[in-house]
Amino acid sequence: MRLITPTQTASSLESIDLCSLKSRGIKLLLLDIDNTIIPRGDKEAPAEIINWLIEAKQIDLKICLMSNNTKKRFPDLDKYVDDYAIFSRKPFKINYKRLLRKFEMKEKETVMIGDQIFTDILGANRLGLHTILVRRQRNYGKFTRKILHWFEDKLWEKF
Ligand SMILES: [Mg+2]
Repeated sequence: MRLITPTQTASSLESIDLCSLKSRGIKLLLLDIDNTIIPRGDKEAPAEIINWLIEAKQIDLKICLMSNNTKKRFPDLDKYVDDYAIFSRKPFKINYKRLLRKFEMKEKETVMIGDQIFTDILGANRLGLHTILVRRQRNYGKFTRKILHWFEDKLWEKF
């Protein structure tokens, strides 16, 4: 249970208080894309998310996007972020470690934010990062995905 429990939860990405993360010593934000930044099925990030990314930059937080997709399927967010990693193989540790090395950050300086317990949160918890589980922006998918969502929602109630 410990490995799937996030450090904190948030109703959305833009509701996360960036200054409070910074005051805790966080310097790097690792962000899931699908359904955390861009609602599933949409082509663009909502304006409030973009504003949140801009605010993060303004207070000097580094931002790296992490997607498990094998191709770059998200729109151009380059001017808002420092880097992105596709084919991240969450929840395996290898790419989290690689990104920490690349940005020269320690575990305690890094937060992973995402909507999926068994990829985003599990992977980052295995490394001891600060983790924030956000509400998925949109429900989607067929039977198996619905079961996963149901299960994640049940866990959410416990966090
Ligand atoms: Mg996601």
